[in-house]
Formats: sequence, C-alpha cells, structure tokens
Amino acid sequence: MAKEDFKYFVEQFEDIRVLKYKLPGFESLTLQQKTFIYYLSQAALSGRDILWDQNFRFNLQIRKTLEAILESYIGDKTSDEYRSFLVYAKRVFFANGIHHHYSNDKLRPGFTESYFAKLIKKIDKHRLPLKNGQTKDELISQLSPIIFDEELFGRKVEQREGADMIAESAINLYEDVNQKEAEAFYSGKIDPKDPCPVSLGLNSKVAKKDGEIVEEVYRSGGLYSTAIDQIIMWLEKSINFAESELQMKELKLLIDFYRSGDLKKWDDFNVLWAQDSEAEVDYNNGFIETYSDPLGRKATWEAIVNYKDIEATQRTKIITANAQWFEDNSPIQPQYRKEKVKGVAAKVINIAMLGGDCYPVSPLGINLPNANWIRKGVGSKSVTLANITDAYDITSQGDGFLEEFAADQSEVDRIKKYGSLTDSLHTGLHECVGHASGKLAEGTDPNALKNYASPLEEARADLFALYYMTDKKIIELGLLPEEDAAKASYDAYLRNGLLTQIVKIKPGKHIEEAHMRNRSAISHWVFEKGRQGNIVELFKQGGKSYVRINDYYGLRQLFGELLKEIQRVKSEGDYEAGKRIIEKFGVKVDPHLHTEILERYEKLNLAPYTGFVNPNLLPVYNTKGEITDVKVEYVNDFLGQMLYYGRNYSFL
Ligand code: ZN
Repeated sequence: MAKEDFKYFVEQFEDIRVLKYKLPGFESLTLQQKTFIYYLSQAALSGRDILWDQNFRFNLQIRKTLEAILESYIGDKTSDEYRSFLVYAKRVFFANGIHHHYSNDKLRPGFTESYFAKLIKKIDKHRLPLKNGQTKDELISQLSPIIFDEELFGRKVEQREGADMIAESAINLYEDVNQKEAEAFYSGKIDPKDPCPVSLGLNSKVAKKDGEIVEEVYRSGGLYSTAIDQIIMWLEKSINFAESELQMKELKLLIDFYRSGDLKKWDDFNVLWAQDSEAEVDYNNGFIETYSDPLGRKATWEAIVNYKDIEATQRTKIITANAQWFEDNSPIQPQYRKEKVKGVAAKVINIAMLGGDCYPVSPLGINLPNANWIRKGVGSKSVTLANITDAYDITSQGDGFLEEFAADQSEVDRIKKYGSLTDSLHTGLHECVGHASGKLAEGTDPNALKNYASPLEEARADLFALYYMTDKKIIELGLLPEEDAAKASYDAYLRNGLLTQIVKIKPGKHIEEAHMRNRSAISHWVFEKGRQGNIVELFKQGGKSYVRINDYYGLRQLFGELLKEIQRVKSEGDYEAGKRIIEKFGVKVDPHLHTEILERYEKLNLAPYTGFVNPNLLPVYNTKGEITDVKVEYVNDFLGQMLYYGRNYSFL
C-alpha cells in the first residue's frame, strides 16, 4: 500500500486526535518473527487493567459501568446528553482513567448527575460491576461524587508546592498514607555504597493496613496477580519463538520477575535486555516509568512490541559507515575533530503493539533501561519509532497547519513529497554522527557548560545534520534522491524555529525546554546573520508572518559557521559564550509574534493531543492448532477497540 493510500486519521473529540499506525514490511517477516510478535502482543494487552487501577482505585469500576452502558443501553442515543456521555466515555478511555492524561485534572462530564443515574437504572444489573450485593442505587451514590464532585480526587498527581503530594494525589500507588509516611517507609533502606542498587519500591503499592504501613508487591500471587498470570502465560508461549539464546534467557528472567516480584530479577533481566542490541523483534513489558509517582519511585505498567525498520536502519548504517568522512569534512576547527570517530548505530523500529501506559499515547523514542548503574556499566538501547513518527508527519500535512504557515505552495508541495524522508534522515544524522562528532580540548571540564550543556549539545547535533543535509555526499550515498529534497528540511526547520514551535508556549512565557531552546537558537542566529544578505527573510502578508529562504547554499554556510562556533564552545568549555548564544537567540519569545501565531493556530482547530488505535494481529491456525501466519487488521473505531479490549483483556 502506498503511503498516501493509508488513512491515518481515525477520529477527533475534545482535545484529542486518534490516529492509526501502519506496520510496514510486517508481511515479509518470517513466520517465527510474526508468531513471536503475536505472543508478545498478547502479553502487551493483558496488563491493561493494572494501569487503570494504578491510575486511580475507582477507575476499573467506573470503566466497567461505562462499558455496560455503552454496550447495552437501548434508549435514545441521539440526544445531546447521550452524545456528551459518549464524549466523556471516550475521554476516560483515552486517559486510562477519569483524570486527563496530560494535565492530571479530573475530566468534567458534559452531562448531569441525574442523567448518569437514569442511564444506570436502564441497565440490567448483571452487567454492572456491583460489589458485594450492592444495589444499582448504591452504585449510583458511590460513583456520582467520584465523577461529578470537582474537589473530590480532583488531581491525579498533585505536585503543587506545599501540598502533601501523596495524600492529595488520586494516583493509587499509595493508599491511606501521607507523604511523610511514604518517605519514612523507604528511608534508610537503600545502601548508598551498593554499586548495583535495585530500584526499591518500583513494583509495589504502599498502603496502611490495620494501622501498619505495608508494601503490596505486584506479582503472581500478590497484587494484580490475575492480570500478571495472563502476562506470564503469553510470555511463556513466546519463548520458543525468540530469536536468540540471549532473548530466551531474558524472557525467562522477566517471567521470574513477574512470579517473584524480586527486583534483583528485574535488574538481571534488564542487563541482558540492554545487551541484546541485534534483536530484530524486541519489546518492553513491565513496571518501567516513574513519572506518575510524585515521589518518583513507583512505576506504572507499560508494554510495547516492535520490529526493526529495515529501510531506515539501513539508512543509519550508511551514515554510520561514513562517520569518518563526515567528521573529516566537518566545518569545525581541525583540532576539535576526532581522528577516529565511531558512529552510534541507532536503531529504527516499527511499533506492532502498544499497551499499558504507552497506549493510546505512544512515545516517539525509547531509551531504556532506566537504572543508572546498568546504563553506565552495560549500556542502554535508544530507538526511534518510525511508523509512529510517520503517522504524525503525514497527518500533519493534511490538517491545514502547513498551508497556514508555509510561505508558498511550492514549499507545501516539497514538504509533502520529501518531508517524511528528510525528517528521518535528519534524525539519523543527528543521532548517529552528530552527537558522536568532535572532541574536547585537553583539560576541558566536561561539565563546564552546566545548565546550557543540554540545548548546546542538541544544537551541535542538529547543526551537523543541517549542514550535511545539502551536501553532494548525501545524494552520492543514495540517502536523498535529488538536491531539491533537502530544501524541505531547511524550510521546515526555520519555519518551526522562527514561527510555529511557540504554539506550545503559554502567552507571556519564555522557552524552557532544551530541544525547543536549541531550535530557537539556531533559527534566530542564522536569521540574524542571514537577513543582511537576504539569505533568509521574514515577511508579512495580509497581517501574517512568514519565513522565506532565498539562498539555501548561503544558509548552509551559516549552519556550518554556527556549528564551528558551538563545537569550539563545547571543546573549550566556554560557558559565557554558550550562555550568550542560548540566552540571546533561544529563550525569548516576541510577544506580538506570539499572539499572532497563537491566533492563527487556534483557528485551525487542531487537537493538541494525539493517540493511536492498535491494529489487530490475527493468527491463522492449521488443523493441528499451529500458527501458520499472522495477519494485520487495521482498526478504524476507537471506541470499538476499547470495548473489545474490555471484553477480552480485562483480568482484574
Ligand atoms: Zn539529540
């Protein structure tokens, strides 16, 4: 299927846009790989309820109530109230609970309490999640304040200064304990001299039972046992289809971890997993990220399954193989070039299934494991997600954003033709050779750039990519089909850096995030230098601001010049010069331009948050019950998928 024939868009509601992602090359995987992916994908879906319960302890009961209404209510479905109910239900499904996935605020229903009661009363009581002889009326009076009272459980994670971050957060990683008690529970339990410390408390809930504080561990036979046993079952089936001895050992350790809840096993698993960089099919499955714990200790459950993107990985291999050529021809001062540069072999993958905290909102890149001692001693895996990035790129070309902010139609056409390719190439150059390039002068403190180190480092890698994007070598290596293609990359970079990235900034605020500072700094620096020679211009038409590049070759020289300077800053640890570049060009936002851009953006009526439906992976069996193929079925129904998961993967 050609890229343009695939419909990524599924639906939009409130502040949410739902897309689907494509599985390029899945058919050409071996039967063993497809079968392996299938079993891992079942494991990835089986832990769904764990996350729902972790997010808030009444989430599952509410979800089951919503499911009962959605699946069996036969009254008027055309009324405004029912439509509002539908939107609320979708928002809850999207957030894996009743709190907004990003803002953490409790979602406000657009229908009344009495309407909610009316709906429940019309549902057969056997379909409702009534607990211990609860009546429908009791269910209604239990759930109503939880859903409708704005104050009650108002924030999933409360990190406001002065708040009791545990007692005031609705998140269910702690129960009936306050922040002091939670902190005291773990204090003194970590040996600061341990070179390989386990992530204490990562896979447990801390609760007060009969006045005593206890840790309830997520494991088979412990908390979430019934869901964890399902995960184990599918992981066990997957082992026989693993691609290597190493991967088999890995999976066995992961299963041991789920059985015992022993964090030492989790670390042992991660040590092997981090070494397994050649895997064509790979996965994450476990209690991994700690963002939802105000104390940063406890992890929510997540899972993904992925396979290598052959084409994009091939591209990064070509780049890495030519790393020395790039280094030797770089515009930086010769004394700061590396005599022997080793490119980083970045892996590009395609997602085959998203689960837990990675669904429906997917990450764009993955860099794991998290344990520092493993990262330092053994290494880590850093991957970019090709099919997810493609879905973003391609849908953003059809939503009016590009037409609104591009200077003319030829720019729009070029981006549509080459944008996805140059984006992927930029990432490849940035990751594989950009960060790896250059060296410090003798005696330079590697930490000299302090708080400016991160935006400057990102700028260095971006500039490396931008500088080479228009080089003949790129065409020679077959990385771009023609010179014109690279222009798409320059247009997009400056349009974003000078104009559009500030849609993410609230009025009156400055730019804080490192990548955004870097993009702003590069764009404004080259604009400042390039405006005299009319290399780049900002112009207004009909009250709207646009960027135009008049001399792409001249712009390339400016990227080279800035790369040279930023490499010097890093090599010499010139803190003051680095600070000047970032503060002068990367931080401030012109308030007039900001207002204009925000107004134009608002008119486009775009949803700020994006999530995905998964494809269905359907095994084909022979008469002996063996899998002979796995088919991909794309799904176009967000709510349908949620209800399907509710019927088939609800284990708590
Ligand atoms: Zn980077």
